[in-house]
Amino acid sequence: MHITAVRTYPLQTTLGDLSFGWSQRVGNTRQTVLCVVETDAGIDGVGEAFYFGGPPTVVAALIEGGLAPLVVGNDPFDTAVLWDRCYNLTRDQGQKGVTISAISAVDIALWDIKGKALGLPVHKLLGGAYRTRAQAYATGLYEPQGVPSVVDALVDEALGYAAEGFGGMKLKIGYDPRTDERYVRAIREAIGPDLALMVDANHAYNAPEAIRVARLLEPYDVTWSEEPVPPEDIDGYVELRRATTIPIAGGECEYTRFGFRELIARRAVDILQPDLCATGGFTEMSRIVAMASAANLPVMPHVWGTNVGLAAALQLFAALPNTPERRFPAEPWFELDRSPNPLRAGVTHEQFTVEDGYLAIPDRPGLGVTLDRDFLKRFAPV
Ligand code: MG
Repeated sequence: MHITAVRTYPLQTTLGDLSFGWSQRVGNTRQTVLCVVETDAGIDGVGEAFYFGGPPTVVAALIEGGLAPLVVGNDPFDTAVLWDRCYNLTRDQGQKGVTISAISAVDIALWDIKGKALGLPVHKLLGGAYRTRAQAYATGLYEPQGVPSVVDALVDEALGYAAEGFGGMKLKIGYDPRTDERYVRAIREAIGPDLALMVDANHAYNAPEAIRVARLLEPYDVTWSEEPVPPEDIDGYVELRRATTIPIAGGECEYTRFGFRELIARRAVDILQPDLCATGGFTEMSRIVAMASAANLPVMPHVWGTNVGLAAALQLFAALPNTPERRFPAEPWFELDRSPNPLRAGVTHEQFTVEDGYLAIPDRPGLGVTLDRDFLKRFAPV
C-alpha cells in the first residue's frame, strides 16, 4: 500500500451572537483544518490540525505544499519515518506551532489508515485500552457577551452541566484576581462540593500574580489551575508549583517531545496537557506519554477541535497508562469542549454523547469516523 494524495479542508465560520471571551480576547470565529490522506488500496484516513492564530489556509498550504510531497508514494505504515522526515524538513523554522500542527494532521490521518487497513481501532495499535469510556469534564464557562450579569450567566451554565451529569467543568479565569475569585466562588457555591472544578487562565499572569490568584482560589477545592503563566515561562511554573496546593496543569501550547522534555525534566507542571492535533499526532504523542510515564506525571490531553480531533483524542485516551498503576487507579479527565463551534459535530456522520458523565470510546477501525463531505464544502473559507 502506498500514499497517493494528501488533501486539505480548511474550515471557517463566524460566531455572531455566539462570540465568547476569555483572558486573551473575544473570539468571533471558529476554524480548523482537516487533512485526508488517500492510498492506492482505496483506504483513506483523516486528521485534524489545531490552529486558531490566523486563517486555516495557512495550515492547509503547509500540508499541501510542504508535507504532501514528502509522504506521497510512501507506505502509510511508516509513521515514525515519515514523521521524522516531515519534522526535519521544517525543523529550521518550524519547531513549534503551526508547522507541528500541520504534521499532526497528517500523522493522525496515517494512523487512521493503519487502523482501517488492519480492521482495528487506533487504541489497539497504541497498546490497548486501559479504559473503555472517558470521564468527561465540560470545557465552557467562557465570558458570555451581551448578558446583563456575567456571573449569573456563568452560574446558569454551570448548573446546566451539573444537570447533564458531568462530573466536572472548567471555568475561564485570568481576568484579574478579584474577578477570578468572584466567579470561582459563585460557581463552587452553586454546584456544591462534589463536582470537580478546574480553572484556566490561558497564560494571563506572571508568577507573582498567578501565586496570588492561586492563594485566593485555594479554599474552593480547585482540581487544577491550567496555563496560569505563559508557556515559555518554565521558571514561573516552577515557582508557582512550589507556592500553592492547587495542582498546576499546562502544555496545550507546547510541542513535540523536545518541548515536553523541558516541562517534564523541570517538573514545571503536575498534569501534562499536550493536544494531539498540535503536538505532533499519535507518533509524537506516544513519545511524550512515555516520557511522562517515566516521570510519574499524568497526561490529560487538551481537546478543542471538531469531531475528528475528538475521535482521535478518545483513541489516545483509551491507551493512556494509569499514573501510577494501582489497585484503584485515578481516572484521568477527558476534555469535552462545550463552547460554541458550528463546525464541531457536522464534519462527521458519527456523533459523541455523554451519558452519566462518560463518553464511550469507539472500537471501530481507525478513528472510527467518516467525513460528511457536503458539510465540509459548506464551510470552506471564501
Ligand atoms: Mg486551556
